[in-house]
Amino acid sequence: MAKEKGDKKHADTAEQDFSALSPFELKDELIKAAGGSAVERPANASMLNAGRGNPNFLATIPRHGFWQLGLFAMRESERSFAYMPEGVGGFPKREGLTERFELFLRENRGVPGIDFLRGAVSYVRDQLGLSAGDFLYEMCEGILASNYPVPDRMLKLSEVIVGQYLRREMIGKHPFIGEFDIFAVEGGTAAMTYIFNTLRENRLIKAGDTIALGMPIFTPYIEIPRLNDYQLNVVNLNADVENNWQYSKAELDKLRDPKVKAFFLVNPSNPPSVRISDESLEQIADIVKARPDLILLTDDVYGTFADDFVSLFALAPKNTILVYSYSKYFGATGWRLGTIATHRDNVLDRLIAELPKDVKKELHTRYESITTEPDKLKFIDRLVADSRTVALNHTAGLSTPQQVQMVLFSLFSLMDTPDAYKNALKRLIRSRKRALYEEIGISFEDDDKNQVDYYTILDMEFLGERAFGREFVEWLFKNTEPSELLFRLAREARVVLLPGRGFGTKHPSGRVSLANLNESDYRQIGRALRKLIEEYVERFNAATGKTLDKGKVE
Ligand SMILES: *Cc1c(COP(=O)(O)O)cnc(C)c1O
Repeated sequence: MAKEKGDKKHADTAEQDFSALSPFELKDELIKAAGGSAVERPANASMLNAGRGNPNFLATIPRHGFWQLGLFAMRESERSFAYMPEGVGGFPKREGLTERFELFLRENRGVPGIDFLRGAVSYVRDQLGLSAGDFLYEMCEGILASNYPVPDRMLKLSEVIVGQYLRREMIGKHPFIGEFDIFAVEGGTAAMTYIFNTLRENRLIKAGDTIALGMPIFTPYIEIPRLNDYQLNVVNLNADVENNWQYSKAELDKLRDPKVKAFFLVNPSNPPSVRISDESLEQIADIVKARPDLILLTDDVYGTFADDFVSLFALAPKNTILVYSYSKYFGATGWRLGTIATHRDNVLDRLIAELPKDVKKELHTRYESITTEPDKLKFIDRLVADSRTVALNHTAGLSTPQQVQMVLFSLFSLMDTPDAYKNALKRLIRSRKRALYEEIGISFEDDDKNQVDYYTILDMEFLGERAFGREFVEWLFKNTEPSELLFRLAREARVVLLPGRGFGTKHPSGRVSLANLNESDYRQIGRALRKLIEEYVERFNAATGKTLDKGKVE
């Protein structure tokens, strides 16, 4: 975005052009300006980095469960080759496993994680109707990690349990007909990489094709289509701050254009952190009826933080690829846990079946080393194969301990009635938000049921105009450099925010993550922002002869 040069320049923001940097790279520059080192953890610096989406909380109970299960599995392993003192163990034995596990639970009564494991096994048996022994066997083998993941897409019972979790969190009470398949992957990151790649390899999107993005959006969705690998045209569907970050009917109607092959959506959004309204979801589902070939991808990483969340996957299951990650809700970014889900009856498989003959022949050759019927290979299994360059399909899949932790997180959440963990997290982030806005001096709408509050966007135009009028906002933009406010916050207050611009917001703005710092830090950030605003109001008054009251923010 070209800006007129203002009269007041700041040496180091004017010297370099940061406009091409992704917000995450620009963040590193802001951290430097704040006197920190980009690789330094926030705990080591007096700098306040609110740019990190990485939560500073984590789920403890299912982790305790993981370690206790690990100890039990070790005991199982050491039952074999017990005559060898050199540290050689074997595989767990299915026979008598449940009884030995009961004994282990009794011996360790009171140890953190033990009650959780007891509940988890009971839930699997009594609620899901699965065999407790089979479940324990899959978990013990998985945590010992002495076999390749089989099936490669996902371990069998693990898929059932994670499927139940996704049903509860993403579908809820919404009617859902049929079954879906899951591919366990290394976080949302891998999900995105794999999906873009397989869509292209199977000609569902080609260079020159048009896709639509729900804006603003997590930056990689903007950057990937531009890569030489993809060369896609992009139509933006813009959510507007004035519309509480919802998409208007007219914006969503852009999906009616038959040129648009696919629509990529983050819901709840990043960065506005607002869940798309029920009316909009219904409108998209309606459009799909008229455009049955439209491919939808919904990235619902933040769904668990919303009230009564329903995914686009529930409303348009046959057209939607569901991406979910355990990173945010369980504070587990280091684990790399995510899922891709597709309905068993889906548009992707249908479009693959309808490809031109020559393309089908080529794809037949591509996948013939892994199946005798390559033409019938499902899209989701193509994802698995492509994730390991087809030729390594037999060793594809997420590491088995990762799948075990994923299952324990899922069970923890399934057993979290009545939403104790969920409500604790919501309370935590919402009270941080309140603290931030209190200090800035802005009251914020707390009555929008679609607000999720994992992030909050400080939209300078929207907030500035509301507080001080249009004239002030126009003066401000004319007399400041892009990113100037962000750099001043970094340099003078050691506060780091991410530029909203990098996520495709239309107005200059900063993204504040509400997940990564403590409440007192958000108060400090709020005070720093307020000080900066007051200074610009003073300058505006001096330059224009007006008499805005800097103390009045709203
Ligand atoms: C954080 C995030 C991801 C990445 O998730 P990982 O599982 O940590 O790779 C994907 N999509 C969105 C929208 C995110 O905010």
